[in-house]
Amino acid sequence: MKSFYLFFFLSLLLMSCSSPEKRQKEAQAFIDAYSAKLKGLYYAAGEAEWALNTKIVEGDSTNAVAARTTKEALSAFTGSTDNINRARAFLQNKQELLPLQVKQIEKILYAAANNPQTVSELVKARIKAETEQTEKLFGFDFKIDGKPVTTNAIDDILKKESNVAQRQKAWEASKEVGKVLKDGLENLQRLRNETVKALGYNDYFSYQVSDYGMSTEEMMELMKKLNRELRPLFRELHTYARYELAKRYGVKDVPDMIPAHWLPNRWGQDWNTIVTAEGVDLDAALQQKTAEWLVQEGENFYVSLGFPKLPPVFWEKSSLYPLPPDATYKKNNHASAWHMDLESDVRSLMSVEPNAEWYETVNHELGHIYYYMSYTNPEVPVILREGANRAYHEAMGSLMGLAAMQKPFIEQLQLIAANGKSDDQKLLLKDALNYVVFIPFSAGVMSEFEHDLYKNNLPKDQYNKRWWELCEKYQGMTSPSPRGEEYCDAASKTHINDDAAQYYDYALSYVILFQLHDHIATKILQQDVHATNYFGNQAIGDFLRDIMRPGASRDWREVLREKTGEDLSARAMLKYFEPLTAYLQTVNQGRRHTLGDI
Ligand SMILES: [Zn+2]
Repeated sequence: MKSFYLFFFLSLLLMSCSSPEKRQKEAQAFIDAYSAKLKGLYYAAGEAEWALNTKIVEGDSTNAVAARTTKEALSAFTGSTDNINRARAFLQNKQELLPLQVKQIEKILYAAANNPQTVSELVKARIKAETEQTEKLFGFDFKIDGKPVTTNAIDDILKKESNVAQRQKAWEASKEVGKVLKDGLENLQRLRNETVKALGYNDYFSYQVSDYGMSTEEMMELMKKLNRELRPLFRELHTYARYELAKRYGVKDVPDMIPAHWLPNRWGQDWNTIVTAEGVDLDAALQQKTAEWLVQEGENFYVSLGFPKLPPVFWEKSSLYPLPPDATYKKNNHASAWHMDLESDVRSLMSVEPNAEWYETVNHELGHIYYYMSYTNPEVPVILREGANRAYHEAMGSLMGLAAMQKPFIEQLQLIAANGKSDDQKLLLKDALNYVVFIPFSAGVMSEFEHDLYKNNLPKDQYNKRWWELCEKYQGMTSPSPRGEEYCDAASKTHINDDAAQYYDYALSYVILFQLHDHIATKILQQDVHATNYFGNQAIGDFLRDIMRPGASRDWREVLREKTGEDLSARAMLKYFEPLTAYLQTVNQGRRHTLGDI
């Protein structure tokens, strides 16, 4: 009997040794074949999209057709039934596979869920609905008093106009677009949910959140935590803005909530232009330079941290500057960074001119490029050549943009005189009215609205009611006049239509940006967080490369904890703006705080 058991045990042991090895080999063969095919299709789609964005010839649809067909080929492959079935089969016994294999196969399945061939009719209907919604949004004719206006003109009024009635007209004009988007949004709510259900996701919101390795409940709890942590500071900013704006518009009774048309942004997501601060005049200094100088100095900054020079392909194939006036075609002027082949072909699309905005943008876009270059290495499989999560990529670019704007850094570039005068308190207040004010909107209003829209199937006749409940609760902002269900104010925000259920990415990228900057300033440089100079510091480069190099092959939470010693938290962001608290408390003395707790 004993020997029988021993034999049985041994054979079991043998089975469990050889079988996983075989499974791992099979899984690797599947992953390798998938990756090779993906690279080719991805490159082709990237090239077509690149041509579409860099060479826009009026009346010629060649590039648009090529972009559509290559994109269709790519999604037909990633969503193919064969890939879905095989990925599912491997994951059924994932304990037999290597952790890195599991990560890759989960990514394959995640990509498939967006356009599964198993429900191809649904996918087709969704893509059609998305295209129509985008066309309606961007083709909308905004009008004030019956006269056509651009959204830039509306933004200008909201930034500068002091007549409240004029402001209200502009604000209301900006929301008219919601009416024509409401049916489309309801349609998309259904189609997006049904598409991802085919691969077992509960709803579209949970699908998007799952890319973080988190449940919807965990993500919403995290969003609440960020809002709670920043609430005391936001309450001071809210009080400050109510009183300052009431003064500006000649309103005697300061309202408890800020009327939406008082704010300098259509959604109240950025209030920084309320304040003007005397500061460094970068624009004037950069006018003496060329656009090429900006890009060159951007590269020099990264090289000084120990990053390699940009590869020749970047200089040969990027489209970095505005087109000459006599060009026979146009290009997209919005800045972006591209990882064309998931290997060494990296490019940027910009229209750099020598001014402060492009100066910051160059440093931001190069952050993306160096992130691509860092995780393109033999340790990171093609499928995992992404940011640690979606927010990291943005955080990295913004971090370098922020660092390049700090005074000691620009002093060293001799763009401003050393020890020049500036109103630092006001500059910090301006930054807070941008960064801090954005959190109640992104982590609060946008994230909760889309959560309710997809997860709770928010009924169409409650869209606007829910939107304004959230604006009041989180932003302390109210509508200037009743907004019934004939409107759809949420849909006036682009992302609700074409970048759905991902807005928490932006909130997270701000929080991560300040955590990384805080670590660099205090632990590596031992400098004031408000006045750092990263230039030439190899240790900063090492710190950043350690985060960038693994791409998505490591858990983003582990990376953050390991590199900064803490979990995701608004602590660093609060610390950055801490000097403002005393200032605001003094300015707000005797003023009534009206913002409730959350
Ligand atoms: Zn970016």
